[in-house]
Amino acid sequence: MDEKNRPLILVIEDNDDNRRLVIKVLGSRDYEVVGVTDGRQALARLDSIRPDLILMDINLPDMDGYEVTRQIRRQKDFAQLPIVALTAHAMVGDEEKSLAAGCNAYITKPINVRTFPQTIAAILKEHRS
Ligand code: MN
Repeated sequence: MDEKNRPLILVIEDNDDNRRLVIKVLGSRDYEVVGVTDGRQALARLDSIRPDLILMDINLPDMDGYEVTRQIRRQKDFAQLPIVALTAHAMVGDEEKSLAAGCNAYITKPINVRTFPQTIAAILKEHRS
């Protein structure tokens, strides 16, 4: 794949180990990956990063992933941007809550490093217009 055509993934994750793992796993495949540690940075940089997909940790400092997702969805340019919730909380209602906030899909942590890139590829393909 052409370097310039590599899908750009924005990962919003406050846990350093988790963020580095996602960057490593996707970055070693056909993806460009940008990582930020909170929603404010993500919102501030969204216009310049223009990702093809967002990986959204739900449990974030200050503003949780649901709120960050709602704020992204309010922006017309990002109304259709695929947002994938990443959460360790496999609690009843979590998936529904993330979908209600505007996420398109939901992945439980810890990620499976073998299947994760395929899952992301499938979601990207599904949302490609
Ligand atoms: Mn977190």
